[in-house]
Amino acid sequence: MATLSIPGVAAERRTAPREAVEAFEAMLDGSLIRPGDGAYDDAIRIWNGMIKKRPSMVVRPSGTTGVIQTVNFARDHGLELSIKGGGHNIAGLALSDGGITLDMSGMRSVSVEVRARRATAEAGCVLGDLDRATQHHGLATALGFVSLTGLAGLTLGGGFGYLSRRFGWTVDDLEEVEIVTADGIARRASRTEHADLFWAIRGGGGNFGVVTSFVFRLHEIGPQVTAGLIAWPASEAEGVLEVFRRVAEAAPRELTLAALMRNAPPAPWLAQTAHGTPIVAILVCHSGPVEQAAADLAPIKQHGRPLADLIQVKAYVAQQSMLDATQPAGRHYYWKSEFLPGIDAGFLATYREQFVGNTSPANQIVLFQMGGAIADRPEDDGAVGNREAAFACVIQASWPEGDPEAAAHLDWVRRAWGALKSHSTGGNYVNFQTEDEVDERTRQSYRHNFARLAAVKAAYDPTNLFRVNRNIQA
Ligand SMILES: Cc1cc2nc3c(=O)[nH]c(=O)nc-3n(C[C@H](O)[C@H](O)[C@H](O)COP(=O)(O)OP(=O)(O)OC[C@H]3O[C@@H](n4cnc5c(N)ncnc54)[C@H](O)[C@@H]3O)c2cc1C
Repeated sequence: MATLSIPGVAAERRTAPREAVEAFEAMLDGSLIRPGDGAYDDAIRIWNGMIKKRPSMVVRPSGTTGVIQTVNFARDHGLELSIKGGGHNIAGLALSDGGITLDMSGMRSVSVEVRARRATAEAGCVLGDLDRATQHHGLATALGFVSLTGLAGLTLGGGFGYLSRRFGWTVDDLEEVEIVTADGIARRASRTEHADLFWAIRGGGGNFGVVTSFVFRLHEIGPQVTAGLIAWPASEAEGVLEVFRRVAEAAPRELTLAALMRNAPPAPWLAQTAHGTPIVAILVCHSGPVEQAAADLAPIKQHGRPLADLIQVKAYVAQQSMLDATQPAGRHYYWKSEFLPGIDAGFLATYREQFVGNTSPANQIVLFQMGGAIADRPEDDGAVGNREAAFACVIQASWPEGDPEAAAHLDWVRRAWGALKSHSTGGNYVNFQTEDEVDERTRQSYRHNFARLAAVKAAYDPTNLFRVNRNIQA
């Protein structure tokens, strides 16, 4: 394993001398944004309004050169450095409080090699950027459920979505990256070049450097799929969740389901009388032939009397952004999550109990189906691990700034988590961890792969320059 030699790392401090900042700015391939500048508020805006951090400067690089300059500057002046991809990390790991934030949003190009079935995406992309570019050619790679999520953070933590049961974790289709390591060198990492580094970034997050671009393998998908959402009153939850369990268990890899309970939003697709009432819903995406999808989904579509059935043949990109409006940026968000080895009647009964007397308009628990191709590879194929997960259970609260019920929402999440976590595989998803989840949870995320990750971290980032993340330290 290579070990980097890092010159002249200064002791940590919050500011650099004014002349040094001026010299940095004069040479910078990109723009420097300070508090008080017109662009500052936008540059530090992230998805979770609960996080209040103010970097002393934000750098928006135009390309790899600007990234290298910023890494060198932060390292040489002992400044805390954070990296902002799509700003969707719930713990607010995109921002440094008082240090430098490297905002990658100026680097969002995507190029698709149709015959080779590969796409190269810059690290400032959101998921929709890559999906739209690849679906133009009827191709896709497995990305997440909300199109505004950052591609970089999602990929570096593992990444899963509607296509993961066919193709595995997002990082299973990752072929190569360009990454600027702590010594300020841009390296290519793949299974054959810096293979140890490549193994680590396939799940190990932003611990190893700034990724500037990703190369993904693509597959033929759609562009039409059978997908959408179907909802019933929560009074039917026991039967609906049993159908969900049975269909999920028998599902081909082309089909991915998710179930959720919550109080109904004031959505136009629901009758007004249903707004605010408890519901149970199933989300589906079937990327196989339409007739096969109709047969596989029949038990769901024919169950009981749904309040609304939005499952239809539609564009895959439309399904990929269907949930965007349900997760608006700026609200306060708090989650807990666990991977589950399966769901049985006992689990589902406890799940349903969490909604007895729930008055929150937005709190929900989502059960995302996983399994399939995720489990095809060995646990140590990339740092992400957790390949035995059959479901991800995500307990989510959300409320507007200033909501007097904020403490009650936090409490609801913690209580529900307490009731459900004994069903966990023992693993949890590093990309769903909140600000108050400590190192022990990160160790639980990586479990068998943690020691190897710590060794790669020690080799490539011996001074822990990249520490505003779910930090790996030996
Ligand atoms: C509404 C919503 C829906 C989600 N849905 C899914 C889903 O379906 N599937 C799924 O797998 N996850 C999902 N997630 C979780 C998501 O993967 C994480 O929140 C992820 O951190 C978001 O990436 P980002 O680039 O937007 O994050 P940011 O907040 O910008 O960054 C997060 C972390 O990534 C690191 N990072 C960012 N860019 C780089 C880079 N270029 N180089 C090195 N490190 C970098 C940062 O240092 C930071 O630690 C969802 C999150 C939200 C809020």
